[in-house]
Amino acid sequence: MIVRPSPEQEAIVAHPLEPLRVVAGAGTGKTTTIALRLAGAVDGGLDPERALGLTFTNKAAEELADRLRTGLPQLAAAGREVEVLTYHAFAWSLLVERGAHVGVERTATIIGPGAQRQLLAELLRDTTARHLDLTAPGIRLSEALLLARRLADHLRTPEDLLAAAPEEPDEVWARRLELAELLRRYEEAKRRLGLLDHGDLVRRAVRLVSEHPDVADRIRRRYGLVLLDEYQDTDPGQRRLLQLLFAGVPVTAVGDPDQAIYEWRGASPTNFAAFPRHFPLPDGSPAPTLRLGLNRRSGPAILAVANAVQGRIGGRDHVPLRPAPDAPTASTTAAWFATAAEEAAWIARRLHDLRADGIPWREMAVLTRRNRELAELGTALVAHGVPVHDVGAADLLRRPAVAPVHAWLRLLADPTDTPALVAVLLGDRWRLGLADLLPLAHHGRHPSGEDRRLDLLDVVEHLDEVAGLRPDARKRLDEFRTLYRRLLARSQDAALEDLVVDVVEALDLWTEIGALDETAARSARLDLHRFVELAASWTPLVGRPSLPGFLAHLEALDEGADPELDAVAPSSEDAVALLTVHRAKGLEWDVVVLPSLVDGVFPARPRRHDDPAGDPTALPADLRLDPRPLPEDPRERLAVLRRAHADGEWRLAYVAVTRARRFLLATGSAWHADRRRPAKPSELFEVVAEHETDPGPRTAEAGPRPSPRPWHDVLPAPDPLFPDGWRAALGDLLEGRRPLEGVDETSLAAARADFLALLAGLDDDVPAPDPPPTVRVGGLVLLASCPLRYRWAEVERLPRRPGPWLRAGIDFHRRIELHHRTGLAPDDPETATYDLVAEGPHLADPFRAFLASRFARHRPVHLEASFELPLAGVHLRGRIDAIYEHDDGWEIVDFKSGRRRRPEPWLQLEAYALAVGSGAVDPRPPEELTITFAWFGGGEVEEASRRLGPDELAALRGRIERLLSAAADGPFEAAPGEGCRDCDFVAFCPEGRAFLTAADRRRRRGRE
Ligand code: SF4
Repeated sequence: MIVRPSPEQEAIVAHPLEPLRVVAGAGTGKTTTIALRLAGAVDGGLDPERALGLTFTNKAAEELADRLRTGLPQLAAAGREVEVLTYHAFAWSLLVERGAHVGVERTATIIGPGAQRQLLAELLRDTTARHLDLTAPGIRLSEALLLARRLADHLRTPEDLLAAAPEEPDEVWARRLELAELLRRYEEAKRRLGLLDHGDLVRRAVRLVSEHPDVADRIRRRYGLVLLDEYQDTDPGQRRLLQLLFAGVPVTAVGDPDQAIYEWRGASPTNFAAFPRHFPLPDGSPAPTLRLGLNRRSGPAILAVANAVQGRIGGRDHVPLRPAPDAPTASTTAAWFATAAEEAAWIARRLHDLRADGIPWREMAVLTRRNRELAELGTALVAHGVPVHDVGAADLLRRPAVAPVHAWLRLLADPTDTPALVAVLLGDRWRLGLADLLPLAHHGRHPSGEDRRLDLLDVVEHLDEVAGLRPDARKRLDEFRTLYRRLLARSQDAALEDLVVDVVEALDLWTEIGALDETAARSARLDLHRFVELAASWTPLVGRPSLPGFLAHLEALDEGADPELDAVAPSSEDAVALLTVHRAKGLEWDVVVLPSLVDGVFPARPRRHDDPAGDPTALPADLRLDPRPLPEDPRERLAVLRRAHADGEWRLAYVAVTRARRFLLATGSAWHADRRRPAKPSELFEVVAEHETDPGPRTAEAGPRPSPRPWHDVLPAPDPLFPDGWRAALGDLLEGRRPLEGVDETSLAAARADFLALLAGLDDDVPAPDPPPTVRVGGLVLLASCPLRYRWAEVERLPRRPGPWLRAGIDFHRRIELHHRTGLAPDDPETATYDLVAEGPHLADPFRAFLASRFARHRPVHLEASFELPLAGVHLRGRIDAIYEHDDGWEIVDFKSGRRRRPEPWLQLEAYALAVGSGAVDPRPPEELTITFAWFGGGEVEEASRRLGPDELAALRGRIERLLSAAADGPFEAAPGEGCRDCDFVAFCPEGRAFLTAADRRRRRGRE
């Protein structure tokens, strides 16, 4: 549907090309307005290559680029594009171009928060401290990361902090200095290893353009219009870089101070407020401000709540929201209950009613303030027949289908991870009780009379020596030990994604899920697929994907809602989305439920203030780039900090409320979580209640306190030894309220050493060769097209842009796998689960086309078949979508969700055929093979096939061996060509950019 621009939008599009600030309220069409302004400037004669759009996440950059392609079809057809990058990618592109001036090599590797954490953890292990409590290394690690981030946000180094120390440091300063010393060593380690973290990108880019004004000049002259999206989320360092580069350039900054919810990770509220002064007009006067207040998303009742919430936020730049003339009818409801279980049951009933009224599950979302509520509420909703899926990756780890896989992976990566082992042994597969673990713990304390302690896994390895085990428990532990050894051996050489799939299959989770009722099965399948997909799509910014790296990444996800890290994956599956409000920014649904609106939960109580006087991770005022005056008087100071915290919470509430189009349900309960006294409704609940149009129930009496785990009342407690249920007992154990007897820190360390010695002993018999290098088939195809692209994608990995087509492709393959694994006929009602909408207006739904094709009607003999083929000294690795059996041999098929491409990338299927023909997939392959590409993006299947006999396979072997030798030895030189157009690295590649510029110029000349 084409929406006419509103008069507000037209004013922005028509505004002269000069610095401009746009305050865009929620749902007022910010991205459309940015795209219209860029498109308007290009229509007015601006060369598209002279326009630049900057935004925060890859997802937002992709969305903006897509809108521009749609808005400027004639340019898109000519292969010309407006450059749209994330702020970090832009800083990196400057360093790739001219970073040598400030000591940054193009070969430097960028590390993400997971790798940052790993490196800091290594350094922390060798740290001694007088003031920091090192018995809680996880907390210290988080503090060090936070301080590193804050220093980088303000373009400071640990040395700056050490130099700013007072002569007689108080306790807070003493701890800050010890953290700074740790960060100094971290900086040294990065230099030694040739690494850069995200903070370095902006810091070094600022140094580059400050010390080399000629570089800044060149870049400034390159652009005739710069659009800054989500400007309210920029940090002071990013603002400084933009100011240095774009002073005097027409810069349009778009944002909404009421949606500034990332202050805790460095965003500076001053940037947006001071934009008119930071980017003045040529005559020195402040840049003007235009506003967008016409909301095109929500009905009037929801906007009334949004405006009331907005009224609670301090500051002046608010834009009250007005409904569009064609706004949907909306309703708001506030409902209060005695227990969380009643609250969950009511939410489930209400969602069922709305579903019966025709709203699909996928148009509903449950948003919480914290992760904590999500998993428990999700479990309760599934028990009430509501299918759910976790949208944020971090929340996924707590879902019932994923938690055991995560625990197994932790255990495979670290045999001393006792909490993971306990979770595995007490979980559904082995069903041991805590009483069964006590003999193990006891044995660990006195192993064979020796004066040392073993950790639990080591004791399981010595099972025969353990006394006092029930026979049934011994049998199960023995089975566990066999499986653990098998998976441990597998984890030594399997690719990460294959290992995750192996763990899922070894636990027989697909079968278990099949035994659940339909709703629970659907939610569990979605969760598990999403987790496997997360492992498959995760790329470390250092080296190859590894299990410890992936786990560190998950841990970093779990630490905080960082949108750059935890990309949300809204799915077109028909299930209710569960996510935190931080992750919901930029998304919208017909129905939004805000549960747990309980005093102190949402708005949340402050845990600690960003106050240099009390928090060692807070920067002293004179090291900050933005002024942040705090009163000296402690009470006044506390009042200012509390006000800032409350503003942040109300901004979050504003984001939450404005996600809803038609129905807003606010709920809470007196006996929330483990509270000892009944809670009161929160202020946010009261605001919704004041404006409710469709009154919900209010239970006045809290009644007696229910069981300690009220959300779990729907689950039975199977272990009579633990009347509160094994989950509560496990929670007690993991949180240290009921420690495992016989296991303490000293014994863990000793046992770890023993375990390593044991592994070393195993190596005595079998000399362990270095693992052979591996090359993926995808890498082989890149190598054949451009060796430099292969190097950046596979050897020295640079960040890649996950585009919507990649998401669509993953979704599509997941559905094909689900279709064949569940064995459902295409017309089975269950396939409604996969009733997808197309990813874009231009693409037909590829899965519909698949369901109508011959590939859906026949079951493949191999599905998602992994292989590893030793060739020319390396291992060629790949995964084949499907292999079908016919009378005249096997057909190897690669499914593509897009439209047909010519020429076909045959090398991919040829490599698969070679692997199949060599017996790497199945020991008895037929002689005759057919290779087939099947494209589904055009509305119906289009196929291209070739037959390969033994002679062709022999010829292929020689060709692929020669390519693989080049993969091992290089040189990886640029081979620019038409492939540069879809290359993720074109921003870093002068050769590719030069090729495209010349090709476009030729094309333009040809048209003239
Ligand atoms: S932009 Fe072109 S030349 Fe450069 S790495 Fe990519 S494909 Fe190769």
